[in-house]
Amino acid sequence: MSALMATYGRLPMTVARGEGLRLWDTEGREYLDALTGIAVCALGHAHPGVAKAVASQANTLIHSSNLYNIPNQERLGEELCRIAKMDKVFFANSGAEANEACIKIARLHGHARHIENPQIVVFDNAFHGRTMGSLAATGNDKIKVGFGQMLEGFIRVPFDDAAAVEALAKTRDDIVAVMVEPIQGEGGVHIPSDDYLPALRKICDDNQWLLIVDEIQSGMGRTGDWFAHQHKGVLPDVVAVAKALGNGMPIGGCLARGNAAELMQPGSHGSTFGGNPLACAAALEVIATMESEQLPARAKALGDRMLDGFNAALHNQPGVVNIRGRGMMMGIELNQDCPELMGKAMDEGVLLNVTAGRVVRLLPPYIMSDDDADLIVERVSKLITEFLSN
Ligand SMILES: *Cc1c(COP(=O)(O)O)cnc(C)c1O
Repeated sequence: MSALMATYGRLPMTVARGEGLRLWDTEGREYLDALTGIAVCALGHAHPGVAKAVASQANTLIHSSNLYNIPNQERLGEELCRIAKMDKVFFANSGAEANEACIKIARLHGHARHIENPQIVVFDNAFHGRTMGSLAATGNDKIKVGFGQMLEGFIRVPFDDAAAVEALAKTRDDIVAVMVEPIQGEGGVHIPSDDYLPALRKICDDNQWLLIVDEIQSGMGRTGDWFAHQHKGVLPDVVAVAKALGNGMPIGGCLARGNAAELMQPGSHGSTFGGNPLACAAALEVIATMESEQLPARAKALGDRMLDGFNAALHNQPGVVNIRGRGMMMGIELNQDCPELMGKAMDEGVLLNVTAGRVVRLLPPYIMSDDDADLIVERVSKLITEFLSN
């Protein structure tokens, strides 16, 4: 019997080690990791630069405290603000925690505007995390069962429907922010229409709301730009990052710009581990590597190549509803639930995941060769074809 709480439905496999795109289990079996620990190891496993940065920092100082200056944190803040065009950052240890900081900033924004019960607009099928605040923001009722009353202060509307948000602006005066994933990840890899984020930006501007963009899954170069919202040149007020930021070292950040960046004051918020020297050393190496190797552009090129491959292999396949993606964030939607594909793919030597019941999701590393990308397409297409013909 396991001493671990039963929070995860784990597949019967134990990862022993990794290198680049590949993982090996304790039996010596090899896997192409097209999931990368759920959008985390974008530079692949055992990345030499990240390993060296972490080892060297661990030999110097792992943790000090936010009671003192942390040069790595200062440097990482500057780098993140540069690539995201933001002014300031608060460092946390995970995506959910980054979003908690975003939610607190939105509420402080409301407080400054003398709004007593500030409301944040959120979306159907959104995923923002599992802490009580980020869970309340999440648009999946199944994962809220049993946890009692949710944090109030969220109004939910359909995703990719700017008119629904505009309608709220006309009827309410207690809204302080919109919180949105530029591409919904857990909700099924939903890419909104190109004019959606610009429309949200305009509604926020017209009503003095903050535009909060959750880039935890879609950010850090995954979609071809550093952040998915940059695809249409939108500049949010607040941005949440995590997942690929540390390539496996736990770190998240809440970035903000303009007035939103000034709302947190001494005593407003904090985290013991947040932005510690070790996690920041990893993230600094991630940004430097992505930049010097132009990996965001590579992610886009690989994504285009794989989508072409999937379209060629699957588009005539009855049962395939839609093939979509941007860069290293892809979804193949089937006409039926297919959770068993995770285990079947594992048996075929590919790690992927199924989200929203019937969307096969791939979040591969940006460092793959073209041949390896083709190999993933080949194996996954075969798997889906066989599954659908049974
Ligand atoms: C994964 C994810 C989160 C939660 O991040 P954790 O590190 O698991 O807390 C929040 N938002 C989005 C969009 C995510 O994909």
